[in-house]
Amino acid sequence: MKTIIEPFKIKSVEPIKFTTFEERKKALEVASNNTFLIPAEDVLIDLLTDSGTSAMSSLQWAGIMKGDESYAGARSFFTFENAVKKITGMKHIIPTHQGRAAEKILFSILGGPGKYFPNNTHFDTTRANIEFTGAVAEDYLVEVGSRPEVKADFKGNMDIERLEEFMVKRKRENIPLCMITITNNSGGGQPVSMQNIRDVREICTKYSVPFFIDACRFAENSYFIKKREKGFENKSVLEIAQEIFSYADGVTMSAKKDALANIGGFLALNDDSLAIKCRNLLIVTEGFPTYGGLAGRDLEAVAQGLEEIVDENYLEYRIRSVEYLGDKLTNAGVPIIEPPGGHAIYIDAKRFTPHIPSEQYPGQSIVCELYLQGGIRGVEIGSVMFGKYNIDGKLISPSMELVRLAIPRRVYTQSHIDFVAEVVIEVYNNRHNLKGYEITYEAPILRHFTAKFSKLK
Ligand SMILES: *Cc1c(COP(=O)(O)O)cnc(C)c1O
Repeated sequence: MKTIIEPFKIKSVEPIKFTTFEERKKALEVASNNTFLIPAEDVLIDLLTDSGTSAMSSLQWAGIMKGDESYAGARSFFTFENAVKKITGMKHIIPTHQGRAAEKILFSILGGPGKYFPNNTHFDTTRANIEFTGAVAEDYLVEVGSRPEVKADFKGNMDIERLEEFMVKRKRENIPLCMITITNNSGGGQPVSMQNIRDVREICTKYSVPFFIDACRFAENSYFIKKREKGFENKSVLEIAQEIFSYADGVTMSAKKDALANIGGFLALNDDSLAIKCRNLLIVTEGFPTYGGLAGRDLEAVAQGLEEIVDENYLEYRIRSVEYLGDKLTNAGVPIIEPPGGHAIYIDAKRFTPHIPSEQYPGQSIVCELYLQGGIRGVEIGSVMFGKYNIDGKLISPSMELVRLAIPRRVYTQSHIDFVAEVVIEVYNNRHNLKGYEITYEAPILRHFTAKFSKLK
């Protein structure tokens, strides 16, 4: 018999607070209907993000106690460096306090007006760090990637034809690097195939453009390759990950995802002169190159997490538990991105609430209702997160309106997830009562974190 259960037992628990409907109604009001602004204590099941929310293992906690806090050359740095090198094979390993710090350093050096960066889909912080320098971020996702109802194995793939047109049009000197995000977080946590990574590598080589990987969920992506791509069934996840990185010139990573840590990240690259520039900037913004904005203990937790994340019993449980929630929802008719991705279920708000137009933020409406009805916190990934305005002030919406229910790693049990499914299904069954929202305050950049909303009548 094949055993797919949690490959761990629970040594330490943290209570979660139950709230009443009235208390949640009040909390939403105080937060101006932005669930980012609700105190976490008032959330029952927190599916806002899988970032930094993993349960660490006893060995990771042991690493925390072992941390060497020396300013320069700490033993913990070398443990960290070895762990990252083992997986990525990169020559230079630069620790950062999280993924966006690696992006900030990289794009501060390579970005600027007149520069263009292609990606399958830029994550929000990646796009923000590029645009902040005056450069342009362009997405070249395969067409099937933005069709939630179509089942396909690798919906995170780069559209190779359009990438090549881009290379010809924008010219090599204006393209400092090409990036691919595995898995494609903003596009539904969908994986990228090894063949696609090889094809991107080939195009990058042909046009002499460096190839970088946004590797936040490299292990989940590698597991999907093992399960779905011909020729990889007998390779280990570690070997698959190593092959992926062998095609790259550099890597950015948030250790808050597939390193099972609560904080951390890194920039890894092969180019000596770029590495010197990055380290110099790191010293200004993050810290000395052997700790880069982290404590020695954090470096230990990341190093141990990178060992644990490629464990195939863990990955099997991980991918299956996300799929389990997906199955429950699709069986009840709830429209989601299919098949489920690696770290989250993405509700397709366009089909969930077809009576609410994009200008009235259908995803936000669902997010508020999930909190109100069940104390569940998800996040809108649609017109709130990615909406832009044209010169006449009209909203330009992204192609999909989604609500992400991200599953923290090793945190919730099957009965927690059963409860989540019940609440989502109930909200779906009463979907006709949902109303749209308008934005009453927004910041000029990354507005979803701080925006205020009011419910339309
Ligand atoms: C989380 C994430 C980042 C940014 O990492 P942080 O640690 O949150 O700064 C970048 N890219 C992707 C795909 C991510 O999921």
